[in-house]
Amino acid sequence: MTPAPLIDPFARAITYLRVSVTDRCDFRCVYCMSENMTFLPKKELLTLEELDRLCSTFIRLGVKKLRITGGEPLVRRGIMTFFGAMGRHLDSGALDELTVTTNGSQLEKYADDLFAAGVRRINLSLDTLDDDKFAAITRWGRLPQVLRGVDAAQRAGLRVKINAVALKGFNEEELPRITQWCAERGMDLTWIEVMPMGDIGNENRLGQYWSLRDVRRAYEDHYTVTDLAERTGGPARYVRLEETGQKIGFITPLSHNFCESCNRVRVTCTGEIFMCLGQEDRADLRAPLRAHPTDDAPLEQAIRAAIGLKPKGHDFDYSRQRLDGQMTRHMSHTGG
Ligand code: SAM
Ligand code: SF4
Repeated sequence: MTPAPLIDPFARAITYLRVSVTDRCDFRCVYCMSENMTFLPKKELLTLEELDRLCSTFIRLGVKKLRITGGEPLVRRGIMTFFGAMGRHLDSGALDELTVTTNGSQLEKYADDLFAAGVRRINLSLDTLDDDKFAAITRWGRLPQVLRGVDAAQRAGLRVKINAVALKGFNEEELPRITQWCAERGMDLTWIEVMPMGDIGNENRLGQYWSLRDVRRAYEDHYTVTDLAERTGGPARYVRLEETGQKIGFITPLSHNFCESCNRVRVTCTGEIFMCLGQEDRADLRAPLRAHPTDDAPLEQAIRAAIGLKPKGHDFDYSRQRLDGQMTRHMSHTGG
């Protein structure tokens, strides 16, 4: 018997799950982490087997799209085994899409394995094409390694979308160059508005809040920009650049004009489900997973109970917020 799908109290079907598989990362992007991070002890993390059970349960309940994120998901030991195992849900038709958000550092090693597991599209985060600026913004990252990763991904047959955090005075003047680079390589590009992360200190902040309205205006200085009606149920809006035919996305993570079509929930690497990125509503899925190693019914109940509490939306009016101290949760915890 097919179980009832996951429908929240506002009649939204939950078909998109984003799972963070680690809080660790080989980079220390200044807007995401402090240099000296304390990471969770291993026993707090869901094991690969637990991640499999958790994702498979969501898929049985109607999740069609699964995005793996982190921290940096590809630094988690054994993660390719997990990707390989998730491939069975693509084969069976239960899952439409398996995808990953990555900083690209490990792609040279794993691009072929990801393709073999059934991944066809990836999101790759990259804010600058300048070696020194890349080292400054990621602290520990090195651009050539990531560019080799982009090459490897495209060679493997993966479609790559670039996500760039918009930072005034940092990558502002690089907008045409980044855009052209993406056009030449046939990659879509999405700009993300920087979100305030309260507890990572300001002293290191490179670049400032650059509103996406202004990013869009910057495009109008260089291109003919046409708005597209297309929505994905998420916070992105799209335009087309007529000169290149490229689709450019804009993500304002905390704007609430997309809440009514929200189809997603997030699970952290410790098995906490967050029903809304802009709210603190959460529930623990690890306890039912661990207490019942061979029975998925309690986990399913916990998932249904959590979805039953999904809020209508977040009442975070970004335009009126100060930029500091609003979000104490790290993006690396909820996976962005
Ligand atoms: N490590 C992977 C990566 O960088 O793609 C996946 C996890 S990372 C937390 C996911 C996304 O969140 C990245 O695109 C990153 O740029 C974005 N991000 C991190 N901190 C952010 C912040 N303060 N504001 C906006 N986006 C942020
Ligand atoms: Fe790591 Fe991604 Fe956060 Fe950068 S944004 S520190 S790559 S998790």
